[in-house]
This record gives sequence, structure tokens and C-alpha cells, in this order.
Amino acid sequence: MDPLDIMTNLERVIPYYQAIFSADRQEVIGYEVLGRIQMETADVHSLGAFFHDTSIPDEYRLEVEKVILNQALTAFIEEKSGLLLFINQNAQLLLVDQGESLLELLLSYVPKGLKLENIVLELDEHAYIGDIENLQHLISYYRTFGIQIAVSNIGEAGSNLDRIGRLSPNILKVDLQILRQSHEVSTHQDVLFSLAVLSRKIGATLLYENIEASYQLQYAWRHGGRYYQGFYLHRPGPTFIPEDYGKSVLIEKFQQFIRYEKRKLEAIQQLTEMLQDKIQQLISKHKKMEELDLWLQLIAKEFSDISFRMYICDENGFQLSANLMKENGNWKVKPEYKMKNWSWRPYFLEYVMKMRVERKGLLSDIYSDIESGESVRTFSFPISPNRYLYIDLAYDFLYENQDFL
Ligand code: CA
Repeated sequence: MDPLDIMTNLERVIPYYQAIFSADRQEVIGYEVLGRIQMETADVHSLGAFFHDTSIPDEYRLEVEKVILNQALTAFIEEKSGLLLFINQNAQLLLVDQGESLLELLLSYVPKGLKLENIVLELDEHAYIGDIENLQHLISYYRTFGIQIAVSNIGEAGSNLDRIGRLSPNILKVDLQILRQSHEVSTHQDVLFSLAVLSRKIGATLLYENIEASYQLQYAWRHGGRYYQGFYLHRPGPTFIPEDYGKSVLIEKFQQFIRYEKRKLEAIQQLTEMLQDKIQQLISKHKKMEELDLWLQLIAKEFSDISFRMYICDENGFQLSANLMKENGNWKVKPEYKMKNWSWRPYFLEYVMKMRVERKGLLSDIYSDIESGESVRTFSFPISPNRYLYIDLAYDFLYENQDFL
């Protein structure tokens, strides 16, 4: 829409609300305020593009925003609900007057019943190009009034995790739209995963937005999402909705996700036990381990269908055997791997300790193999004191049973 059409039709500018749901209570915990304009044709247009267009003068955008906020705050107070109200703010615009005019506006609603701790300022990290310290100061200032901070529009490659960490938001909003793009899915998943880790480290609540399908909700549920938002649960509308609006869907979906997850975990448990039994039998059959490479070759024969690489390490991660690698269907001995050290790999020592204490084998999570780039899992097993056998399971084998992936 033409910005002038918007400026000359301010009385047609209205707020829309999109509900945000919580996983723990399966209820609405708040709303994001979105700008809309209702034209004569009864068409309602989003003002998103208008607010993001930096070629439109600041005063115009601030004025339209004020119209929306006044209506939203009035309606919100009437609800007396104690829910959260997420207000989108452009950090750049906010800093023009050090956030004073917005604060004044919010404070003017306090006598009417607004609780500032129910206000969440939603800042778009990507849109802010200025000095992070200025933003940090502004945020701490707002915090002294009890206002909460959410950082949104993260989840795209190139997000600066350090910057986000320094803002220490109460809520991280992660956009799940990128899950829809089929190319480079795994790279995106890794970025999303690192955001989940970050939110845990800095103690921020993770909110996944743009959930438009069941699989995205499942992703959010599996990856530490406490809050959910998106068309799949609620389309933005001009009014607030009952708090239990999404409850039955969420409960039904959670049960489905839990069933799926349990089935997967059971399958992995069975695979672990199968591998463990098999190795235990082989160990009692081939007791002589003086020549580790020869012993490994005897064992490897039994794993030709499922593994592409096997080796033995001591508890400090030094490789005691050669690598056995499958090449064109045959096991090849690679002596150059002897005495390499793997203790630097994530979870390596943790897994060794577990095996030592429990005297049982362990199946790793799924990860990308450095050499082959394929998704693999490693099964490890304590074969004798200070000797640990590692069996890398081939992607082809894991792929046969989707529960193993
Ligand atoms: Ca937003």
C-alpha cells in the first residue's frame, strides 16, 4: 500500500492480535500486536511492509505505531487478564529519543491498570545495525520498569549469537519458516539447534514463531520451545480469544509427539542391546586380544552389514588399533590412525566414564562424520579394562529404519 494512503486513513488503522501459547499449560499466555489497515472493501491489509520500509520517514511510522498501540493497550487493560502483550519495536527508531516517548506512552496507561511487567518489547535483532551497547543501555533502562525483552527474527544464518547473548533477553523468538526451505535443511537445523543451546545458556525462554504445520510444532516441542506462535495454532485477528483456545489441539499433538519419540527411543534402545549382545558373544568367542588389529578384523567380519569403520581406543582417547575401514565392500586396515587422539571430541570422555562405570555399551546421538559428511551414530563398548571398541554405524543401515535417524 502507498504510505500516503495509510497516513490519510489513520482512523482505519487497527491492531490485530496473534496468540502465543505455552507448552506447560497449553494455554494462551499472551499476544503479539500486529498492525493492520481496514479499507472500504472490507479488505484488511498488513502494515508489516510499511513498518519495515526505512525509506518512509520515521515520524510517519511512529505516528501509525502510536495509533495501533493506543488501541491495543486500551483493549488489553479492559481484559484484566494478566497475560503478556508483545509489542514490536524497531530498535533504530526506539533509540531516536532513547526510548522516552514509548515509555511515556506506556506509563500513561499504568493509572488505568496496565502492569508494565506484562509488556514484552519485541526487538528485531537483524534490523538493528547500530552499536550494541546503546541498545544494551536502553534495554536495562526499560528493565528497571519491569518491562520484558524479546529478541526476534533470529534463526537465519549469520545471526550473531554473541550480540544476542549480550542483550540477555527474557525471550528468544525463533522463526521456524526456514524449516520449510528444502535446500540446506541440515545447516538450518544446526543454526536452530545452536539457538536452543544459547537460550538455555543465557536463561531465556524459547518462543518458536511462524509455526504453520504440525511438523514445525513438533520441531518446536522437541527443541526446548516453551512458547509457540503461528497460523497452525491461531491466525491473527481483531479480538482476543479464550485462554484454552488451543488446548485440545496441543494436548492431542503432544501425545502424538510423545508416542513417536518413545517409539524412537525404544528402537534405539533395542539396537543398543542387540549390538551389545552381539559383541559380548564375540568377545567370549575371541578371547585373545594381544594382537588388537587381528582381533578387530575378526570382529569386523560380523559387522560388515552395518558398519563402515571400527577402531579401539584407551580411556584417554588414544587409538590403540589401526582403523578398519570399509572400501568397496571390503575391510581395509589403516595403520596410520594408530595413536591418534580423540579425547577432544564432544562427549568423548563423558561416554568413556559412563562405559567404565556401567560396564555397558553406548550408542551416540546422530552427528555428521568429519570424513564422510554422512549422518552416523557410533556404538562404543568397553571390551576390557582401558580398551574401548568404537563401531561407526553406516548411514545406509540407519536409514533402513527411520527410528534410528
Ligand atoms: Ca514480531
